[in-house]
Amino acid sequence: MYIDIKGLDDERFIRPLELIANLFYEETTITFEKEENCDLSIHFALDIKENSVYVTGKLFDKEGFLESSEYEKEFSSYQTEKERFKQIKNAVSHAYLTMLQNKTGMIQKWGILTGVRPTKLMHRKMQENVPVDKAHKQLQEEYLIKEEKIQLMQQIVERQLAVVPDLYELRNEVSIYIGIPFCPTKCAYCTFPAYAINGRQGSVDSFLGGLHYEMREIGKWLKEHNINVTTVYFGGGTPTSITAEEMDMLYEEMYTSFPNVSKIREITVEAGRPDTITEEKLEVLKKWKIDRISINPQSYIQQTLKAIGRHHTVEETVDKFHLARSMGMKNINMDLIIGLPGEGIDEFTHTLNETEKLMPESLTVHTLSFKRASEMTKNKEKYKVADRGEISKMMELAEDWTKAHSYHPYYLYRQKNILGNLENVGYSLKGQESIYNIMIMEEQQSIIGLGCGASSKLVDPKTGKITRFANPKDPKTYNENFQTYTDEKIKMLSDLFQVKTTSAN
Ligand code: SF4
Repeated sequence: MYIDIKGLDDERFIRPLELIANLFYEETTITFEKEENCDLSIHFALDIKENSVYVTGKLFDKEGFLESSEYEKEFSSYQTEKERFKQIKNAVSHAYLTMLQNKTGMIQKWGILTGVRPTKLMHRKMQENVPVDKAHKQLQEEYLIKEEKIQLMQQIVERQLAVVPDLYELRNEVSIYIGIPFCPTKCAYCTFPAYAINGRQGSVDSFLGGLHYEMREIGKWLKEHNINVTTVYFGGGTPTSITAEEMDMLYEEMYTSFPNVSKIREITVEAGRPDTITEEKLEVLKKWKIDRISINPQSYIQQTLKAIGRHHTVEETVDKFHLARSMGMKNINMDLIIGLPGEGIDEFTHTLNETEKLMPESLTVHTLSFKRASEMTKNKEKYKVADRGEISKMMELAEDWTKAHSYHPYYLYRQKNILGNLENVGYSLKGQESIYNIMIMEEQQSIIGLGCGASSKLVDPKTGKITRFANPKDPKTYNENFQTYTDEKIKMLSDLFQVKTTSAN
């Protein structure tokens, strides 16, 4: 789909307009003032005054005029040109989305929002003390978000504040993410750093050497500056792909190096692939008092697991869940995916029925997304997925099922190219929410990423401004340079918390 835009010349409009068009059409290209062979053409006129912007838009196809729209927005206070431009961009998006919705008859429940974290908007309103009714009205009028999504955001934000009442005051602490980039095999939809572990012991050894170093040095820096850790999350990859002995040494490192470990509110270890879980490894987790783990079925249909490259059986998921329970794991999360290839309402209903037999403490319901670099996206024709209508129904099934079984939504995030433009929602039984998930979604404090593919998101304690730093995804590059990445992070952290740099070397 080619859409030609007239009346705008700032290149910063291109990406947001492309993202919105992609909600309606596959792979849109936006061009400025290049009329030939475009499927649609949109003519904008902007009247920008000191305090407001007035946008009019006219939509044409090859045959002629189709739709028009207008929108006026008074500027809210802004500090920088960037913030002012954002408000103009939102006003243009408003008129643009209205025209595309009218043309296609498709209503976007998230309105003009295409970002990953819509709940952040609601938190911002709360931090600015905007009364709830007014906040909802603004979200509906300015962003065209539908009532059901506004209610979902409200519910989630309230839950988060019940679980972490000091959420807005945690900027002087940090959370830590530890990325372990190995898995037994690679799943077809995966774009995480996940390298098949077999035959890579040399690489695993060097990687763990680097990771221990990072943990030690960052821990030392945190101790020196009296900065406490709120949560720790071991992800990847599958952190239980390494041996029990390697896990044991890693957690020992955490206990020795990190400050005040007894005060850490939550430590999670992803044990996503059931084929990596053993009694011995569960013993190690218990030894270090780690009782929040994730065992991910994704689906309870064997054929689906095979089709997506997960080399384990449904029975194995169930068996490992019972094993973990019998060994004292009290907080187990399970991930499900809506819209896996070959699955529709019947298959998803089966998955929910199986979930009912286990009743994990939390359940994350993802909607399949076609991430650019995944095997599934590269060979899209091989994977048949349900249509938009069926995906929405499955989502409703998940909502009804979780409600009926006392699970509450407590975080959500969206992805690009997600089926049906829906969202991923984390549900949990009361009091079993993952604090780390709230931290990563709401970006209220810094998260330091250690290990492969771990990105650090550093939130300025005073301004809230976010700076990022990414460790490399592949173990080889990581192994060659882990000291540099540690030094870089320490420098950035020292600037952020305004303390003197102490180099790791
Ligand atoms: S288990 Fe998770 S990290 Fe590993 S390949 Fe599958 S989706 Fe990727």
